[in-house]
Amino acid sequence: MLKNNNYNFADKIADLCYKHYSSIGKSGKPVKDKEWTLLSSIVKLNKNDNNLSIISLATGSKCIGSNSMSPDGIIINDSHAEVLARRCFLRYLYYHINLVKNGSSSDVLQLVKSNKINDSNDDDDDSIINEHYEIKSDITFHLFTSQVPCGDASVIPKISNNLSDSSKCNNYVDNDEDQSNACNKFNNFGESSDKKRKFINHDNIDSDNKKIKVNEILQDSSFKIINTPCYLSDSIGPVIVSDFNDIYRTGAKCIPNDPRQDTKGFGIDYQVTGAVRTKPGRGDPTLSVSCSDKIARWNAVGLQGALLSLLIKKPIYLSSIIIGGGGPYSEECLYRAVIERTKTDQRPDLLCSNLIFEMSKYSPENTSADRPSPAALMWTNIPERPIEVAVKGIRQGTTKKSKDKGSLRICKRELFKLFITLTDDLFINNSYKEVKLLSKDYQNNWSLVKQNLGAWTVKPDYLEFIVNKEEF
Ligand SMILES: [Zn+2]
Repeated sequence: MLKNNNYNFADKIADLCYKHYSSIGKSGKPVKDKEWTLLSSIVKLNKNDNNLSIISLATGSKCIGSNSMSPDGIIINDSHAEVLARRCFLRYLYYHINLVKNGSSSDVLQLVKSNKINDSNDDDDDSIINEHYEIKSDITFHLFTSQVPCGDASVIPKISNNLSDSSKCNNYVDNDEDQSNACNKFNNFGESSDKKRKFINHDNIDSDNKKIKVNEILQDSSFKIINTPCYLSDSIGPVIVSDFNDIYRTGAKCIPNDPRQDTKGFGIDYQVTGAVRTKPGRGDPTLSVSCSDKIARWNAVGLQGALLSLLIKKPIYLSSIIIGGGGPYSEECLYRAVIERTKTDQRPDLLCSNLIFEMSKYSPENTSADRPSPAALMWTNIPERPIEVAVKGIRQGTTKKSKDKGSLRICKRELFKLFITLTDDLFINNSYKEVKLLSKDYQNNWSLVKQNLGAWTVKPDYLEFIVNKEEF
């Protein structure tokens, strides 16, 4: 399904996510014509019957500053939609592990019989947990996000000073032999690849005879053709694009310990590519890295994170990343940001849809919106309390003083409690951080990936919290 029809697949996923958003009540949603937000979702595909279902869906674009972070794992630091959708995904996995542990069946994961005799040479500390789970082989996961993730994937060259052309996703091509190439692949101006490419302005291409013009250009040895065809909305053949002189910028800032820093020079020199960045926030700086950086991490070490790696040993990877329509998009920039930088072997399909999220800042239905919504909406596909709404990292309607009662089901502390319950209180006396470090394979992989990324934020040593038995 995926390989043969990526165009339909991207729109199908976008449509599914938007319809699901519409089906959820008003609470936590932006005020139309005043506010905008981003929407992200993790969608499950069952390859047996091609059935798609939404596992998690979230909106949000806020991130709290380092001074507001809590040492007890209650406040959600990063409320960008992609990050919340992934946390809801973790909650979904815990729910399904609990189902299987209690003898029910799950359509997404299954128990792996542990063989203690064969495991006897395994000195991995993970083996102190007897029961392991794995995702069923016919299940794949897909990340949808309504616009390109903040950070490196958002540093995109502008073509011909005209957003309506090739810096948008143009899937409308007649040639559908390989739809995955249909989105633009037009830039490589950074140092992230050894292939330096030169571009010509597509305004200079004779619209009646594009191929001849392109061939003429190819005679000039100083130009190289882009290895994957790039399509313009009104073209049917490969075109070399473009002499750009400016970029779309990200609000995320390079982290101080990264040697790559923005020069803030003119046009394309304003921002560097490939750098690890932190999210912008009101007031004091945030310590949360950009969504591009987090997605790069998930692509390299799995979505499940350190804790769940103790229960699900095989990393859970995304099979595709789908970007919604309306805003700037470059498949090549996305590739650089979420795959190339970590040197991972994983190759999720990178797709974009032309369907625009109705509450996006790019939506023609929401043109007067001039500010991001302060609220974040979270939905997880489980029966108990599937919807939550957050403001400033805690449940809407609770104050910072009563935050213990306002903790969200997807905060670190609540997810840790699920983990402790599922491991029969084996780790009740260990801190959150101690348990995460027991996941040795995951931590080793992550160390290598961090080296490849070149930098990462260093958070204060505050995640030493231990949960009390009375909290359950
Ligand atoms: Zn983001």
